[in-house]
Amino acid sequence: MSNFKIHIKTGNCSLCDKSLVIDRKYTEELLCPECFAKDIENKIYHTIEDYNLFSPSDRIVVGLSGGKDSIALLYNLIILQKNSKYSNKIKALIIDEGIPNYRKKSIELAKTFCEEYEIEYKIIKFQERIGKSLENTIIQKRNSDNYKYACNYCAIFRRRLLDEGTKELGGNVLAVGHNLTDIAETFLMNILFKRFSLIAQKNIFGIKSTQRNNLHFANKIKPLMKIPEEEIYLYVNIKKLKYYPSHCPYSKQDPIIRRKVLNFLLECKNIIPNVEFNLLDGYDTLSKTLKKYYKIGKKNNCQKCGCPSADIICQYCIYKEEVNN
Ligand code: SF4
Ligand SMILES: [Zn+2]
Ligand SMILES: [Zn+2]
Repeated sequence: MSNFKIHIKTGNCSLCDKSLVIDRKYTEELLCPECFAKDIENKIYHTIEDYNLFSPSDRIVVGLSGGKDSIALLYNLIILQKNSKYSNKIKALIIDEGIPNYRKKSIELAKTFCEEYEIEYKIIKFQERIGKSLENTIIQKRNSDNYKYACNYCAIFRRRLLDEGTKELGGNVLAVGHNLTDIAETFLMNILFKRFSLIAQKNIFGIKSTQRNNLHFANKIKPLMKIPEEEIYLYVNIKKLKYYPSHCPYSKQDPIIRRKVLNFLLECKNIIPNVEFNLLDGYDTLSKTLKKYYKIGKKNNCQKCGCPSADIICQYCIYKEEVNN
């Protein structure tokens, strides 16, 4: 969290008369902790409403890591359910990549959270579905010519297993804890690597629950997409929610550009406090524009697994074979 700046000072809350306040630079509001937490909950609720992220008949599965984002998300969806926003039971899906000194502890926390709130959960391990833990994949691949960094394998495998697990839990909507900072960072990454076709394919704000016929993969929704990362951090601490605070060790080991992009973004934020909102908006606008001009190739079905894929064999199957040979 050290890169993120939270401005706490004395002053008067914009909504009540309390005096220790959070200075929210991008709206120029001063909010006391209670009003701030309430505001975060309202924002999540309005994001779900405004973008029609799910309907009462949807069956939601939350991708739960035990970190601050997914804990904040699951907690808020439980509140919504209690307020009878919809009746289907929320379930949680935990992916165990097999990352030493990290995932075991975060999974323990995720399990404890689920047990406390009586949430049904399922754990899927890389070891069982891929044939190897992420640790063993990296040990085997690190010195090979085609080594692609832990995150490359991990992201592709995890995305697929989240989808499989959602269906196995009977879900049709997968809720993930991506926050505004994550989305702004991804947009910048896509620009840097000129991934225009990927930008064109994106539905940044999710597919409306009324327009989701014939989706192969579970519909992925991001109810935290309008909340900057440091505000989630602050929120879970104000609410005293237990979460696993450490970062994955691989994010530091590999010289991944994503980290530099995040640092750049945070520097920009010091000068332009609403820069992440600009990027979210820009992502959406560019995506819509590119959809009109960019020819998106017809999707095939992967010859191995049958999932939609731009190529004959999908990336998941390519990597899976690669790490097992
Ligand atoms: S930082 Fe990389 S290796 Fe670690 S969990 Fe995230 S994607 Fe996987
Ligand atoms: Zn207040
Ligand atoms: Zn495949």
